[in-house]
Amino acid sequence: MAGSDRRQTGESGTAKRVPVLLPYPFAGPFDYRVPPSMQVQPGDLVLVPLNRREEVGVVWDGAPDASLPDARLKPVSARLEAPPMRADLRQLIDWIAAYTLAAPGEVLAMALRINALRPDAPATGWRLADAPPEVRQTEARQRVLVLLADGAPRGGSDIAKAAGVSAAVLRGMAGAGLLLPATLPVSPAFARPDPAHPGPALSLAQAAAASALRDAVQAQAFSVTLLDGVTGSGKTEVYQEAIAECLRHGRQALVLLPEIALSSQWLQRFERRFGTAPAVWHSDLPSRMRRITWRAVASGEAPVVVGARSALFLPFPNLGLVVIDEEHETAFKQEEGVVYHARDMAIVRARLCHAPAVLVSATPSLETTANVEAGRYRRLHLPDRHGGALLPQIGLIDLRDTPPERGQFLAPPLIKAIAETLARGEQAMLFLNRRGYAPLTLCRRCGHRIQCPNCTAWLVEHRARKQLQCHHCGHTEAIPPLCPDCGAEHSLTAVGPGIERITEEAAACFPAARRLVMASDTLPGPHAAAEAARAIEAREVDLIIGTQIVAKGWHFPHLTLVGVVDADLGLAGGDLRAAERTVQLLHQVSGRAGRAEAPGRVLLQTFSPEHPVMQALLAGDLPRFMAGEAAQRRPGNWPPYGRLAAIIVSAGTADAADICARDLARAAPHGDGILVLGPAPAPLAILRGRHRRRLLLKTRREIAVQPLLRAWIPQVAAKGSVRIDIDVDPMSFL
Ligand code: ADP
Ligand code: ZN
Repeated sequence: MAGSDRRQTGESGTAKRVPVLLPYPFAGPFDYRVPPSMQVQPGDLVLVPLNRREEVGVVWDGAPDASLPDARLKPVSARLEAPPMRADLRQLIDWIAAYTLAAPGEVLAMALRINALRPDAPATGWRLADAPPEVRQTEARQRVLVLLADGAPRGGSDIAKAAGVSAAVLRGMAGAGLLLPATLPVSPAFARPDPAHPGPALSLAQAAAASALRDAVQAQAFSVTLLDGVTGSGKTEVYQEAIAECLRHGRQALVLLPEIALSSQWLQRFERRFGTAPAVWHSDLPSRMRRITWRAVASGEAPVVVGARSALFLPFPNLGLVVIDEEHETAFKQEEGVVYHARDMAIVRARLCHAPAVLVSATPSLETTANVEAGRYRRLHLPDRHGGALLPQIGLIDLRDTPPERGQFLAPPLIKAIAETLARGEQAMLFLNRRGYAPLTLCRRCGHRIQCPNCTAWLVEHRARKQLQCHHCGHTEAIPPLCPDCGAEHSLTAVGPGIERITEEAAACFPAARRLVMASDTLPGPHAAAEAARAIEAREVDLIIGTQIVAKGWHFPHLTLVGVVDADLGLAGGDLRAAERTVQLLHQVSGRAGRAEAPGRVLLQTFSPEHPVMQALLAGDLPRFMAGEAAQRRPGNWPPYGRLAAIIVSAGTADAADICARDLARAAPHGDGILVLGPAPAPLAILRGRHRRRLLLKTRREIAVQPLLRAWIPQVAAKGSVRIDIDVDPMSFL
């Protein structure tokens, strides 16, 4: 044994070894031996043995840990013919792991999942036969025929996915002469966006902001700028000038949007400004398109990428600008798996690439505002709506003074305002951030409330689908005919509104109005959302009824009235950011009204018109509201003036969760500026059948939570079904 190993040794007399990071939740990289015939560098993708399997890993940075004697080292099996992982990406992975306390391999797994590792499948697929034979078609076959009706060839797996059919259906259709094999077009060329393509003439304020952003791009150095301007002020036009500058320097730009499925208008505007579409990146991209896009980014062929969170891990060789649009959006926080905030990690990526980052919002988060005030970020401000459009006029409807009719949810003043708007031929929107028909089903006889069997949550009625659904775990069941508890007939009653119910009420009030419902379950995917936006712009719709989807950056010029059905809704949970988030959401929804010549109006239905949130919206004075929030959070060291980490213990039984949570509390760190709160049952005390307890670690801003957590959490063994999850900078407190 020893003899054969000595033959592998280098000049120093020890085997050449390298650390290899594997995409699994191990504490760090493992050492492997490099065979003498092989040359490897950090970043190289390699095949290595692991538990009798061969796994893909990445040669990592730093010295090997040398804990394993040479004799027990396993050799690297092969170096893959794939582009190596860039140093800045490796640093980003290490950085995210260190900050979130995720295992580096888990973060690597996210980056590899988007990788173009697998060799391209032969670029053949199917197209419709020119003269298909007359045969009877099944529904599955019909769907394929409809999909391919445009004549363009598509890959087999993409057809199967889009039409919801198996590969056998496609083979059968080919056998019947309906489909012909066809070569797929080679990589769709990523046409270069043209910075010289004429853009709109900017206003003075816009031009000044654009010029400051261009300077930041020219500097080719890390900086963070907040571009904050009222809704409709032209922030997009302004940061497009930064993208243009980046293109002129031959560098790449990354734009992160919170919900890429809702970005049809954004893409149109990009095309108007640059003459061609950018590369788009999100997790639902067909696999072939992912590979093509990944490679185009790696080769620099794709100069601009607009994407969701995971676009952070694309291999830009030459990143010159990172834009995070709607930076205040909580959708940037990934809550599953590696728990990280894409806005914050995008800033890290920008720093590693020596590029400027631009945060864009009409309602900046308190985190960002505090960074501006501390001088860490620069701020550019657009005070007015473009083209002289005025901000909408806000009114409060006190539901105690003018309640809706019994069993209804729209108060008379709101109904009147909608009727007047529709009579003028303008569009109106009703906003309620709750899907389904009713959030609670109750038995009038015994008072029984129908609860999710897996969660501490009521089931939400979806009447159109005749189902009750849990919005936390997805459990669905048929609406029962009798009360499941007392067996009474016709006693189940819907309590409270969801947008289905509001739609029903609106249909009764305004039978002639053409209605459109915008919610994640009625607009599945980007095409449906794009079609909805088109129909609204083309005035094929009079009344829009929607959830938070309608609050996203849409520009609907004919929309002049927004009615908020329940302005108090977001305040109920009472978590740290409830007020901030409610102001942001309601301000964003309000911002959809009156974006062109006709002035806009917003009516908020509320039971607490005196609440600071309502008063801030009424006065249109967000900065003052945020100053008030800051004053509340500062004394107790609440974020952003202190640091916070949530520790969530979950287990199959309440006892097991309690024991672990108590052990954690007993081992909790203490000291000046360090506080541990809890344990307490989580608001969602049971989720997917698991019992949950929460602890919060809160520290003064200058005390990092990570070293404390690293010393604390491993002291408690999570045995059996128990799991301990850590959420640094928590946004959700459920
Ligand atoms: P924001 O993102 O700040 O809400 P937008 O960038 O969506 O604002 O701009 C609102 C509308 O005004 C858009 O339709 C945009 O095309 C238009 N607009 C903004 N600035 C200009 C300009 N300088 N010239 C022409 N149209 C503009
Ligand atoms: Zn549930």
